[in-house]
Amino acid sequence: DRLISAQNRVEDEVVDRAIRPKRLAEYTGQPEVCEQLEIFIEAARRRNDALDHLLIFGPPGLGKTTLAYIIANELEVNIKTTSGPVLEKAGDLAALLTNLEEGDVLFIDEIHRLSAVVEEILYPAMEDYQLDIMIGEGPAARSIKLDLPAFTLIGATTRAGMLTSPLRDRFGIVQRLEFYSTKDLSSIVARSASYLNVEMDEAGAFEVAKRSRGTPRIANRLLRRVRDFAEVKHQGSVDQSIAKGALDLLKVDSAGFDYMDRKLLEAIVGLFNGGPVGLDNLAAAIGEDRETIEDVIEPFLIQQGFLQRTPRGRIASDRTYEHLGLDRE
Ligand code: ADP
Repeated sequence: DRLISAQNRVEDEVVDRAIRPKRLAEYTGQPEVCEQLEIFIEAARRRNDALDHLLIFGPPGLGKTTLAYIIANELEVNIKTTSGPVLEKAGDLAALLTNLEEGDVLFIDEIHRLSAVVEEILYPAMEDYQLDIMIGEGPAARSIKLDLPAFTLIGATTRAGMLTSPLRDRFGIVQRLEFYSTKDLSSIVARSASYLNVEMDEAGAFEVAKRSRGTPRIANRLLRRVRDFAEVKHQGSVDQSIAKGALDLLKVDSAGFDYMDRKLLEAIVGLFNGGPVGLDNLAAAIGEDRETIEDVIEPFLIQQGFLQRTPRGRIASDRTYEHLGLDRE
């Protein structure tokens, strides 16, 4: 339950409906992705064709779901959404597919978590818009084939490496989302602040952005906490010092790190002399599982140059020592 977790929460979703961008033009940052998608969308519209199947990958909270909704909106088609773990049986996916209309978007979040039986149904559906499914069991079982409308599958995943290659190969377009620059995040914070009727100056937005780990979901969440602080203590308006005060109080430091990040960095520096240290040793030392370390904590630390993954293990950088206020021995 980290305040700076990039995972979605119910509280995010409620506010999200109001602030989530609905058009490509409102989608801040990711210039290359936007530029390419604009062309693909326009081409599909002109040909009156379904857009090619699209795979979006990148860490949580960077705007994969948002982009899927925007694409459907720009194409003026319906979007049906589901996720890999929810689709347990072949029939679950078949029910969704047979309810699609021509050109519709089917969005599958966490597509790397599809079961093998469901994935099998997806192949002919993606390739030939064919549903090929067994109904019944035992001697009464029979296979049925149905034509599906031309649709667009948008798959989202945080782990592109975990997709099977037959699935990955069936996506015509693959886009990768990157962590946002502080400048882009500032614009997102300013935009959300105006939707939430929070009075905030540029430096205040920048301070929130700087501590948001390159992630819009975190930026929007920190903004809401800063708003609470401002409303209770400062008549509602947010400048840099108010944002700073609020985030310090919430223990999100100037680099956007919380206790978990610091625990990991301090362990590498304090217990393992700056590394290299293997993932298992590190996991044991800080009491977290390997997956959490690799998927949740490390990506941002690596991207920011605080940590290096090498074949011999994790190594802390000079930046880490500097940030923790320590001298390298
Ligand atoms: P993901 O599906 O990658 O986990 P979401 O699409 O749910 O992420 O985005 C998380 C939040 O961040 C949403 O509330 C959305 O409003 C906001 N957001 C994401 N990307 C952008 C963007 N490019 N511009 C503005 N807001 C964004």
